[in-house]
Amino acid sequence: MNELPSKPQDVIIIGAGFVGIATAMWLQKSGHKVTVVDPEPFAQGAYFGNACTIATYANIPVGTPSTMKQLPQLLFNANSPLSINGTYLPWLLPWLLRFAWASRPHKVAYIGSQLGMLLSQAHSALVPLIEAAQGSDLVKKNGTLYLYASEAGLVKAQPDIALRRRNGIAVTELTKSEISDLEPHLNPIYERGLWFENAQHLLNPLDLLKRMGASVVANGGQIVTNKAMGIKRISIDTLRVQLQDTSIQGQKVVVAAGAWSKGLAQQVGDTLPLDTEQGYHLMYKGAEQLLNRPVGWADVGFYMTPMNEGLRAAGTVELAGLNNAANPKRLQLIAKTMKTLLPQLKSHDSEWTGFRPSMPDSMPVISQSSKDTGVYYAFGHGHIGVTLSGITGKLISEMIDGKTPSMDIAAFSAQRF
Ligand SMILES: Cc1cc2nc3c(=O)[nH]c(=O)nc-3n(C[C@H](O)[C@H](O)[C@H](O)COP(=O)(O)OP(=O)(O)OC[C@H]3O[C@@H](n4cnc5c(N)ncnc54)[C@H](O)[C@@H]3O)c2cc1C
Repeated sequence: MNELPSKPQDVIIIGAGFVGIATAMWLQKSGHKVTVVDPEPFAQGAYFGNACTIATYANIPVGTPSTMKQLPQLLFNANSPLSINGTYLPWLLPWLLRFAWASRPHKVAYIGSQLGMLLSQAHSALVPLIEAAQGSDLVKKNGTLYLYASEAGLVKAQPDIALRRRNGIAVTELTKSEISDLEPHLNPIYERGLWFENAQHLLNPLDLLKRMGASVVANGGQIVTNKAMGIKRISIDTLRVQLQDTSIQGQKVVVAAGAWSKGLAQQVGDTLPLDTEQGYHLMYKGAEQLLNRPVGWADVGFYMTPMNEGLRAAGTVELAGLNNAANPKRLQLIAKTMKTLLPQLKSHDSEWTGFRPSMPDSMPVISQSSKDTGVYYAFGHGHIGVTLSGITGKLISEMIDGKTPSMDIAAFSAQRF
């Protein structure tokens, strides 16, 4: 990266999720002018429906040797954390092959270290944005628990625990009685747990994102309700973003459209293996007092998170593409498991499904385009996009400033595939 003198730029950011808005905020800190484009800003996207954890401990990729060993059983067992829609398999196959390739032990160690490096800066790059948006009341620090139904579950997780520790992530193994001391309302069907003492969570991610968006506007930025249809270079220092019925121009463009970023990158000439891991949540209004912190349940792959307005059960993975309607079986699985874990719960009040933007190696793309150096990519954050939004925005703004990024981001390059 060249060290060019920083000159304020007109930057168009495609996508107003956490990654797009955090990028806009970091760019404004550096003096750039930002326009964020989104067809449905602050509605029901992944930024709304996530599990609310600021998961600075989550450096383990989805694909590991253990995932691969369990894959047939995971995919064909309706109660497993991961499911696949058979009709989507032909389209998913190239992604799955890359997923398998990235799941080899030495690749997992590498990915764990690279995500660990990014996560080590995630908190310090997100907190200033939350403070600037006056959103600190929407963050709680009370740790996060992850529970296993059996001792065998914890034994299977040992390679992941070791990979976390090798990357400086604090994790404590808990016994059954230590867990019930922390969460007395939970039905004690668990045997062992992991305790991430330093973790924080959000009490309402959508409210926080709206406040961050308001801060972008208060600082002179624009949020345009429209859909980006294409990106075209029209002169040496001007890019045009085609919207529906109109177009806008800028000097730089950041593609931060989450799971919908693939087509936009392709227009610039980068074919990237972005797909989606669809997730679900159920909301139990007024039940937030049942838990003190987010609690993950490993057997089904979801978190129960106490929020301002209720308890949210969010997670599981369905590989089915971007046009898949909500799968009632996934929702029923979460509801049934919730009844077992917290029998005192009444029925849930609302349901949601949404799309994680997922790369097969579980690492985001934080990169300049390989074809047009005025276009930047900030997508593919999978399970940890809220957590990584601040550091992604900071790194993109450093690149647009013409500075050498404050950490080595080669692993997140668009050229790695
Ligand atoms: C069930 C579930 C639980 C999760 N739990 C957590 C968690 O606890 N912690 C965590 O850190 N992460 C979590 N995640 C992941 C996190 O939600 C995502 O990684 C994150 O929201 C991705 O942010 P984003 O800004 O890249 O994309 P999104 O939030 O998907 O936002 C992308 C935006 O781009 C817009 N867009 C799409 N196409 C266009 C276009 N053509 N033009 C303009 N705009 C466009 C969309 O409308 C959308 O607003 C979870 C996800 C799910 C599904």
